[in-house]
Amino acid sequence: MSLITRTNSSLRSRILLTTLSTLIFASLIISAAVYWNYDRLTKQALQTRVLIEADIISQNLATSILFDDVVTALEILSTFKADDAVLHVKLETASGALFADYNNVTYKKSDNNVFRFRDEIVFEGKNIGFLDIVVSKKELNEQNIALTIFLFLILTIVIIVSFSLSRPIIKSVLLPLLHLHEVSQNIARTRNYALRASVASEDEVGKLSKMFNQMVEQIEHRDDMLEKQVSQRTQELEKLAEEFRFRAFHDSLTGLANRALLNERFDLSVKHALRCKSRFAFLLLDLDDFKTINDTKGHEFGDELLIEVSKRLCATIREEDLVCRLGGDEFVILLNDLSQLDDINMIARKILAQLNREFVINKDRIRTAVSIGGAVFPDQGKNMSTIKRHADVAMYRAKDTGKNQFCLFSQGMQEDVKHRLLIQSGLRPGLDENQFEVYVQPKVNPEEGSVIGCEALVRWNHPQEGFLTPDKFIPIAEEIGMVNEIDYFVIRDCCSTIKQWAEVFTQPIPIAFNLSGRHFRDYRIVDVLENAIREFQLDPSMLEVEITEAVLIEDPNKAQKVVHGVKSLGLGISLDDFGTGYSSLNYLRTLPIDTVKLDRSFVMNIDKNTQDKRLTRGIVSLAKGLNLKLVAEGVENQSQLNTLLKLGCQHMQGYYFLKPCTKGEFVQWYLRGYSLPKAQEKRIR
Ligand code: C2E
Ligand code: CA
Ligand code: CA
Repeated sequence: MSLITRTNSSLRSRILLTTLSTLIFASLIISAAVYWNYDRLTKQALQTRVLIEADIISQNLATSILFDDVVTALEILSTFKADDAVLHVKLETASGALFADYNNVTYKKSDNNVFRFRDEIVFEGKNIGFLDIVVSKKELNEQNIALTIFLFLILTIVIIVSFSLSRPIIKSVLLPLLHLHEVSQNIARTRNYALRASVASEDEVGKLSKMFNQMVEQIEHRDDMLEKQVSQRTQELEKLAEEFRFRAFHDSLTGLANRALLNERFDLSVKHALRCKSRFAFLLLDLDDFKTINDTKGHEFGDELLIEVSKRLCATIREEDLVCRLGGDEFVILLNDLSQLDDINMIARKILAQLNREFVINKDRIRTAVSIGGAVFPDQGKNMSTIKRHADVAMYRAKDTGKNQFCLFSQGMQEDVKHRLLIQSGLRPGLDENQFEVYVQPKVNPEEGSVIGCEALVRWNHPQEGFLTPDKFIPIAEEIGMVNEIDYFVIRDCCSTIKQWAEVFTQPIPIAFNLSGRHFRDYRIVDVLENAIREFQLDPSMLEVEITEAVLIEDPNKAQKVVHGVKSLGLGISLDDFGTGYSSLNYLRTLPIDTVKLDRSFVMNIDKNTQDKRLTRGIVSLAKGLNLKLVAEGVENQSQLNTLLKLGCQHMQGYYFLKPCTKGEFVQWYLRGYSLPKAQEKRIR
C-alpha cells in the first residue's frame, strides 16, 4: 500500500495551511494558558485586596459585635464604599444571625456576575462572627476582555509575521520545486528532452533538481537513440514497402510485369484504344517443351532460361508495349497502337526469330522455341478474359500446327478449344468409369506364320466424342500429367490378359505396352511394375516395355536408371519408332534393349525408296550384329512385306496382318487358325 496519499491541493497552499494551522494552534494554546493564568492571578489579587480590606476593619467590627453596636458596625462596613468592586457586605454573628448589612448602590441581588468571600471575625482567638462579601466580576471581566484583545492582536501579529517569514522559505524550497514541476510538465507536453531545470542551491531541492536533470538527460539520450532507431526502421520499412509495391506488380524471377500490372495496363490500353479509335494486340507466348527442359536440366537452369527469354523479349518490343510473365513459361505481350494488323505478324516473327537463337546458360548451349497466340482488341474481344481466352486458343493452335509458330485468333478455332476442354475434363471420369479399353495388335513372323507377341494400344470410348485413338488424348493427358494413370491402367490390363491367355492359348503370347516418356523421369514405374508382377504372379518375360528414343535423350542418366530397373525385373525392352528421331546407335550398344521397332515412315515407301531400303538394310545388319530382334511397324501391303523380308526383316506388325482389335476379337482370330500373308517372291540374301 502506498504511504503517500494523493491530494489535489497545491504544494504552496498545503505548506501555508500547515504553517498557519500550526502557528494558530500554538498561539491558541499559549493564549489559553496566558488567559487562564491571568484570570487566576487577577482573581487572586482581587480576593487578597478585598480580604485585606476586611482584615483592616475586622477588629472594629468585632468590637461592634461585642458591644452590640449596629450603627458603628454599619459605619465601619460603609468603608467598602470606596471599593467599587465590593457590592454587598453582610456581618453575621457566630450563630449565623444577621448583625449588619451594607449595600453598595449598584448591587442587584439577581446579579450572577459576582464572587462571594467569607471571612471570620476573631476576637482573642475566638470566632465571634462572619463577614460575607459579594464582589463584582466586572473589573475582572474588563481586564479579561482587554487581555483577549491584546492576545488577539498578538495572534494577528504572529500570523502576519509568520506569513511574511514563510515567504522566503517558500521561495527557497517551494519555488524550485514548482519550477521542477513546470519543467517536467513542459517536457511532457513538448517532448523536448533538451529542457533542464535550473539548480539554484546545493540543498536537497538542488540535489533533486540535479537528479531530475540527469534523468531527463538519460531519457534524452535514449530518446535520441530511439529516434535514430525509429528513423532507421522507417527507412527500412519504406524500402520494404517499395519492394512490396514492386513485387505486387512485378514477377520476382524476371522483373517483368506480373498479372496485376497487366490488368492495370490492359485497362489503360482499352481506354486509349477507345479514345483514339485504335487497336492493340494481346500476344500469349508459351515456351515449347519448357517442362522437359526444366525436368531434365533442373529448375535453376529453367529459371536462367526464363530470365534470358525475358531479356530477349524486352529487347524485341517497343517501349510503349508491355511484356509480362503470367507464371511458369507463359508470357503476355501487349502491343499498343497498331497501325495495321500486319504489324502483329511482323513483331511475332521477330520474337520467334529472337527466341530461336541459341541460348548459352552456364556454358550449356540450348535452343528453344515458342508458340505464340494473338488476339486483337476490340475485334476479338472487348475485355481481358475474352481476349486472353482467344489468344490462348490461338496459341494452342500454334502448338498443334508444329510448335514455334504464331497464330492469330479466328472464330473457327473456337471448336478446337471446346474439343480440347472436353477431352481434358473427361480423362478423370473416363478412368473412373472404365471408358478406356486396351486393344491389341499382333507382331508376327510371316515366314513361320506365327504370332510372336502383341502390342497393347489404348482406346477411349468417349461418351460424347465416340471411339478415340491415343493421338486424340495421350498428348493432352501428358500435358496435364494424367498419362501415368492411363499407363498404369494399361499395365494392369496387360497383366490380367496374360493370365487369361495362358489358359486359352497353348503357346505363350507376350504383350508389349507403351510407356510415356514421363515415366522415365522418376523411378516409380519400376515399383509399379514390380507390384503388378507380384500381384498377378506373372512370368516377367511375358511383359515388354516400348519406349521411344526421345525419352532417352531428354535425361539420359535418369532414363537409363529406369530402363535398367525395368530390365532387372525381367521385362523385355523395345526401342519404339526407331529411325524417326536421333537414331543414336549408341543406345543400342549401351542399354539392355531386346527389340528395335523400325518406324512406319521407313516401311511406308520401303518398296519404292532406295534410300529407305539402304537404311533398313543397315539397321537389319546392325540388329543382327547386336543380337537384337527387329520388328518393322506399319506393314500395310504385300509389296512392303516382300521387300522387308528380302532385306532380312523377319518380324512385322501392321494392318496387313491384323488391325488393332479388342482382346476378344484377337482371341477369336487366333483360335480360328489365322493365316498370315507370306512372301510371294524368293528372298534375296
Ligand atoms: P506406336 O507405339 O508407334 O503404336 C503403333 C501405332 O501404329 C498404333 O497407333 C497402331 O494402331 C498404328 N498401326 C499399326 N499398324 C499400322 C499400319 O499398318 N498402318 C498404320 N497407318 N498404322 C498402323 P495407335 O493405336 O493410334 O497409337 C498411336 C500411338 O499412341 C502409339 O504409337 C503409342 O505411341 C501411343 N500409345 C498407344 N497406346 C498407348 C498407351 O497405352 N500408353 C501410351 N503412353 N501411349 C500409347
Ligand atoms: Ca509402340
Ligand atoms: Ca511405333
